[in-house]
Amino acid sequence: MTLPLIARLDTKLDQLAARGLQRRRRTTESPCAPQVQVDGRTMLAFCSNDYLGLAAHPQVIEALREGASRYGAGSGASHLISGHAHAHAQLEDLLAAFMQPDIAAARALYFCTGYMANLAVLSAMADRDTDLFCEQFNHASLIDGARLSRASVQIYPHGDVDQLALQLATSKASNKIVVTDSVFSMDGDVAPLAALLALCEQHDAWLLVDDAHGFGVLGEHGRGALEHCAVRSQRVIYMGTLGKAAGVAGAFIAAHESVIEWLVQRARPYIYSTAAPPALAHALLTSLAIIAGPEGQRRRAHLTRLIADFRAGLRLQQWQLMPSHTPIQPVIIGTNDATMSAAGSLYAAGLWVGAIRPPTVPVGTGRLRITLSAAHTQDEVTQLVAALNGLAA
Ligand SMILES: *Cc1c(COP(=O)(O)O)cnc(C)c1O
Repeated sequence: MTLPLIARLDTKLDQLAARGLQRRRRTTESPCAPQVQVDGRTMLAFCSNDYLGLAAHPQVIEALREGASRYGAGSGASHLISGHAHAHAQLEDLLAAFMQPDIAAARALYFCTGYMANLAVLSAMADRDTDLFCEQFNHASLIDGARLSRASVQIYPHGDVDQLALQLATSKASNKIVVTDSVFSMDGDVAPLAALLALCEQHDAWLLVDDAHGFGVLGEHGRGALEHCAVRSQRVIYMGTLGKAAGVAGAFIAAHESVIEWLVQRARPYIYSTAAPPALAHALLTSLAIIAGPEGQRRRAHLTRLIADFRAGLRLQQWQLMPSHTPIQPVIIGTNDATMSAAGSLYAAGLWVGAIRPPTVPVGTGRLRITLSAAHTQDEVTQLVAALNGLAA
């Protein structure tokens, strides 16, 4: 006999499946790379966020080993108790120095994940007397952080600076924060950060920028969306993730030193959680050195070329390629079934791309989320283009 409460849950699971919304995980058996072993098969993958190909970089792997030898496996406690290791401190200093051109007097704070960093910054910087102005396509972690803060939330339409200006003008709140992704994770386009900052200056608001997909990738030096958009201000609170282009794990907030000090004092997701293994921070020292150095520049240049090749080669009839110049190159298919069927055909041909459905994207805009990496070769991109053109013909 199934317990009634389990039967109710099973009914909901069946409903998801009936609507084409069931998700499944595939199990990989090799490092994150273009050629990856999945369920016993070698696939050519275009679905990771390892934009610079650092997740399996020999120097980064070696640094992780060295970090484990030096610091052990785990940190043993939260940062404010005894878990804050020398490697964490070194990483924060390096990140602060790196972001200095965009945020003067910046300090940086390292978090276990970007999800946690967003919960931390929103719950600590916003309260009941705060108005949050959130972009429509913001990442789930920003939405959840806004909920946790108990601030009042206004959503402005995607990219609509005029609507945001109206909302800001009517706000009576003493504390205002404009919250946006820089590179939209399911669309690949870039927020108009310079225009957003101008509005924030006019209305004395903070600008919280989630640069999960820009850090390491955008800007000549890889500092991300702020560098790319030439945005420089102490009212910017910057969140960069370190599990995507940086190839390891975690995230950081870079902001004016007073903001960081407030987070250390008040951000519950930071305070009440065990510090990430110091070995990860140690590995990130190497990964940051690569991002900031000539190898990072070479990798970004190669990636830019792959993006151009991909866009120039596609000949889609019924599908739509989004106008993106970042490594996120979504192809809009439409219904859930059509999206799954397109991804399935590619998979059968040995090509692994992400299939994204609601609620991650609006209903009717199911898409293949194709991501390119500096680890891909031009030949590999050509293979993907040929397969897509074949399917869409
Ligand atoms: C991935 C992502 C996050 C979360 O970062 P994690 O380190 O993976 O938890 C936050 N914001 C955006 C826009 C992301 O794409």
